[in-house]
Amino acid sequence: MRRLAVLGYPVSHSRSPAMQSAALAELGLAGEWTYEAIKVAPDELAERVAAMPGEGFVGANVTVPHKEAALALADELSETAREIGAANTLVFEGGAVRAENTDAEGLLRALPASSSGKRTLVLGAGGAARAVVWALVREGARVEVWNRTVLSARNLCEEVGGTPIPNPDPKFEYDLVVNATSVGLQGEDTFERLPLTAHRFREWQTVVDLVYGSEPTPLLAAAAADGAKVVDGIEILVQQGALSLEIWTGREAPIETMREAARR
Ligand code: NAP
Repeated sequence: MRRLAVLGYPVSHSRSPAMQSAALAELGLAGEWTYEAIKVAPDELAERVAAMPGEGFVGANVTVPHKEAALALADELSETAREIGAANTLVFEGGAVRAENTDAEGLLRALPASSSGKRTLVLGAGGAARAVVWALVREGARVEVWNRTVLSARNLCEEVGGTPIPNPDPKFEYDLVVNATSVGLQGEDTFERLPLTAHRFREWQTVVDLVYGSEPTPLLAAAAADGAKVVDGIEILVQQGALSLEIWTGREAPIETMREAARR
């Protein structure tokens, strides 16, 4: 049996086990591969990861709060993981731990069109925002980064690119808007906490909300009501998960099966 897992703290809310198990079944691998959720406290991560290859694990996803720590535990890093400074995928192979990051490419795949040349507003400067800004800057987007704590936006832009801004353009002429903060996760009022106004989105805009849990989030409901295109956090989860699955198994991921399982 080849074992896979998602390591998080907490982890019981994760949709990855359902999504990845459905994908393994669809690929006819359910008898040989398994995917489970493992709750790992930050001070247990190094020991847990070190034990995994001996327990039959061939790979893992890592989620909050372990994405940066996972990078430090790896023997080899992909260039993407190294440049972003975080890993969401581990591969256990030949006695070594390899760290990859599929969050960045997952975001790009979830977008309805290339972001090259697009004026983009990213809200947030935490771990998720780092991967988002890194991906969009490399794709050729013109990225402006707003964050509640201005210094974090400045630091992020120095490290991965983009321009820190104290306030978004008052005309709000952004082709793409990405919420990479955690606002909305606990039911906070998005339009109170973030520099966004409902009824100001336009049909030519694309609005992405990384937060998921209540679908649609208040941000995406408002954007869709104004006619904007919307991409939710589940779609990004599906795309990053599909890329991780392809790294582990070498097989093409059954995206539609994963999408259905993640949304169920
Ligand atoms: P994080 O590192 O803790 O960063 C949190 C961000 O949210 C920071 O920019 C923080 O601003 C901001 N924030 C928190 N509370 C706020 C408030 N009341 N008002 C304004 N800004 C606030 O978290 P993360 O790992 O980047 O994750 C961010 C969100 O993305 C989470 O909801 C997570 O679940 C989601 N996510 C989704 C996916 C997916 O696949 N869909 C992947 C990764 C993450 P300060 O710097 O000012 O504190």
